[in-house]
Amino acid sequence: MTLEISDLLLKEIIDVGIQHCPNEFGGFLIGFYSEDSKQLNITDIILPKKYKATPYLFERDTIGVNERLRRFFKGEPKKYYVGEWHTHPQNSPIPSSTDYNAMVAISNHKNVAIKNPLLLIVGYQNKLVELGFYVMFKNKLCRYEKI
Ligand SMILES: [Zn+2]
Repeated sequence: MTLEISDLLLKEIIDVGIQHCPNEFGGFLIGFYSEDSKQLNITDIILPKKYKATPYLFERDTIGVNERLRRFFKGEPKKYYVGEWHTHPQNSPIPSSTDYNAMVAISNHKNVAIKNPLLLIVGYQNKLVELGFYVMFKNKLCRYEKI
């Protein structure tokens, strides 16, 4: 499966992350699959209304998110929740054990329709932005390579 995300949306994610530095920040990834299911297009993000954040922790709440997901689902094309994103201020975009456990919980969650949720981590180190895209596959987080 390939991933497609616009530079504009990436810029929005990176900028909103910078605004919350030195704390972590994040949200939900929204998108749709191509007809042959070989490509996942990430098109939108939802920012959490409520969250807990420190420089080393980010926990989002799902208050109000279902309502917004329903609106995406009614659109054309139908879009839905495809994963999570969060920042690592002053760190590389490598998932922590907390990140891994959170993704395992999401992929096993009965209300989550997708079996292979995505994780995008935005790392900010010495003014350098590095992106890490991962997909949960058979209880492992596999990193995507950029092409
Ligand atoms: Zn993390």
